[in-house]
Amino acid sequence: MLNTLRRIVTEVNTARDLDHALSIIVKRVKQAMMVDVCSVYLLDPVSHCYVLMASDGLRPDAVGKVRLKQGEGLVSIVGSTEEPLNLANAPDHPRYQFIAETGEELFHGFLGVPIIQHRKVMGVLIVRQHQQRRYDEDEVAFLLTIAAQLAGAIAHAKASGGIKGLIDQAAIIENRPVIALPGAPGVAVGFAVVVYPLADLDVVPDRKASDIETEMDAFRLAIEAVRNDIRLLEARVSTSLDAEDLALFNAYQLMLNSDSLIIKTIERIKSGNWAPGALRETINEHARVFDEMDDPYMRERAGDVRDLGRRILLRLQSDSRSQPYYPPRTILTGEEITASMLAEVPVANLAGVISARGSSSSHVAILAHALGIPAVVGASDLPIARVDGCEVIIDGYRGQVYVSPSSTMREEYIRLANEEQELSAGLEELRGMPAVTPDGMHIPLYVNTGLLSDISPSQNSGADGIGLYRTEFPFMTRERFPSEEEQCIIYRQVMEAFAPRPVTLRTLDIGGDKALSYFPISEENPFLGWRGIRVTLDHPEIFLVQLRAMLRASAGLNNLHLLLPMVSHIAEVDEAQRLIKRLYREMLDVGETVEMPKVGIMIEVPSAVYQIDALARRVDFLSEGTNDLTQYLLAVDRNNSRVAGLYDSLHPSVLTALLHIMQGAHRQQKPVSVCGEMAGDPASALLLLGMGVTSLSLSVANLLRVKSVIRTFTVAQARESLDSVLQMEDARTIRRHMDGVLEKAGLGGLVRAGK
Ligand code: PEP
Ligand code: MG
Repeated sequence: MLNTLRRIVTEVNTARDLDHALSIIVKRVKQAMMVDVCSVYLLDPVSHCYVLMASDGLRPDAVGKVRLKQGEGLVSIVGSTEEPLNLANAPDHPRYQFIAETGEELFHGFLGVPIIQHRKVMGVLIVRQHQQRRYDEDEVAFLLTIAAQLAGAIAHAKASGGIKGLIDQAAIIENRPVIALPGAPGVAVGFAVVVYPLADLDVVPDRKASDIETEMDAFRLAIEAVRNDIRLLEARVSTSLDAEDLALFNAYQLMLNSDSLIIKTIERIKSGNWAPGALRETINEHARVFDEMDDPYMRERAGDVRDLGRRILLRLQSDSRSQPYYPPRTILTGEEITASMLAEVPVANLAGVISARGSSSSHVAILAHALGIPAVVGASDLPIARVDGCEVIIDGYRGQVYVSPSSTMREEYIRLANEEQELSAGLEELRGMPAVTPDGMHIPLYVNTGLLSDISPSQNSGADGIGLYRTEFPFMTRERFPSEEEQCIIYRQVMEAFAPRPVTLRTLDIGGDKALSYFPISEENPFLGWRGIRVTLDHPEIFLVQLRAMLRASAGLNNLHLLLPMVSHIAEVDEAQRLIKRLYREMLDVGETVEMPKVGIMIEVPSAVYQIDALARRVDFLSEGTNDLTQYLLAVDRNNSRVAGLYDSLHPSVLTALLHIMQGAHRQQKPVSVCGEMAGDPASALLLLGMGVTSLSLSVANLLRVKSVIRTFTVAQARESLDSVLQMEDARTIRRHMDGVLEKAGLGGLVRAGK
């Protein structure tokens, strides 16, 4: 059994799309278990029906047509109980449902196992046989193992839109949302523009051809260009390869001239798909023929077909038609939205973001916060490749997406979006006012910046300064470390723009999920590896250049605060302080007129929480990095959508740790700020006020929202809320309680759609 299992899994892993994977599974499982039928039903997340997606043994024309509502038939029982169902004679079961289209009256023995991914039932895998008998333990275990393997492949295919015919378009129109995670607050109605990495055939979306002739011409030109490329390549390597290897070029030329490639793609373009989408379908179809061959040599040829497909795609993508057009109200949508993808959209046209990957604290969410646009992340149920150009609604509070909404739904969300604008306009009057509680406590509100190069929104925000400038950005956008002079110019601009208000520059925090192309760090466990201060202390030449640039940039302004990330050991602070002081003295010695900056550390690692007094004694201020602190306390990778449901900064353990840090800072009479995303969340900000936070540093888009919280609640009321939630045992209850507190104070519009 184990060998068979391994063979099937290997074969499934080489499948390029889900249809292919499913067809391998039903065929091979039927053979291996010597049964009469093997079928896969998948759950349509929109209509909540089980759809027959593949079968070996049932009538082929039933595939894609048979849909069972939840509660119907034995398939549903397997789905709802999340357990195998093993029956000697299925028709005897009271919930058995006869479906004429499948021709199933001939079968008796039934074994169904659920296909589950991340606690969600994705579908059901079933085997049937004519004979009346229960399956033995080995058979059940075998089918369960296959189903567990299948779950990952289905989740991936769903995200990339590879499940054709699964999503019931009618149900989409019925306004059922795709459930994902909140990324950044706000609601938006707009049009999905799907963006994707280039030269990856698997992620090319279907798109309606705007001019069929142009698409056909582009395809023919791309084919011609690749023919030339192959000829040139062949000429270049002909002297160093033997005849057998050179035959590959011949094979490529034959494929490039073949009807199966040209005519099939042209036919698909004629039926309305644009050239890259038509090419993807043809190449996948062609490669699958090779994939299914028994001869291993011939199976390898599938790789050649795909390689050729990528070459043609690259040529098509170099053409200007492939540059996405971003209409007004663009909802930028993709598997994984990066900073550079966001930067390409004209700001005025960007209405929202949907990312299939990521969680509420990953960088796409932080960027959306910084830009003040709603975002939904972890939308792995959304068939990304099929929503390009569709009208969509996103609800960044609840983490929901509606595709092709009805006019009533659209009107409702437009009303909510208008109310949000009114709310923002109402908050505008707070811009020039201080963040002071009704009982007179001033909580300076600083902004987080640096991830985006433009600091002007922060400058006009009425912020009391910069509480976190992430210096990684100038390092990430170059092809080598920026020079001292380049860094000095950037830091000077920021410090000048805000002087005399304080500017907190954080020293380089690379590693983890922040990579530099020219300084690769490859680790098994990057978040527990070489990150932040660990890297810079190991490379004093990089650290000292950055520190010198910062100190030089502060000359005459004297508003520099230095912040050290990822501190986990006392020795790191001592060593960093030694380097900073040495550098300062050296600069004075050569006559530079700089002042010693204030030096602070980020508290974002559990070990730092428990040495808070010793750490606080060594520095001028503390800043709580709740993004990382939450990830390390809860052992939940902040970027992993698989565990995103477990990531919550309102978890009682996180709140207890934050309170412990604040108390330590107060004992040592050191100011303590919070600069993680939590500071920008109105409910959390109220709790931090109750804990005795000295200042908050947040995304500019959240500044006025949080200011309205500070100006509404007294410190005593904030403490009261804190005392209540410290009695609670889970984040969800705490969130509900805090939403209620804000709603009661007339600030409900800060935490949900509408005013
Ligand atoms: C944090 O960890 O809370 C933080 C502010 O730093 P970053 O998000 O850049 O890791
Ligand atoms: Mg951090």
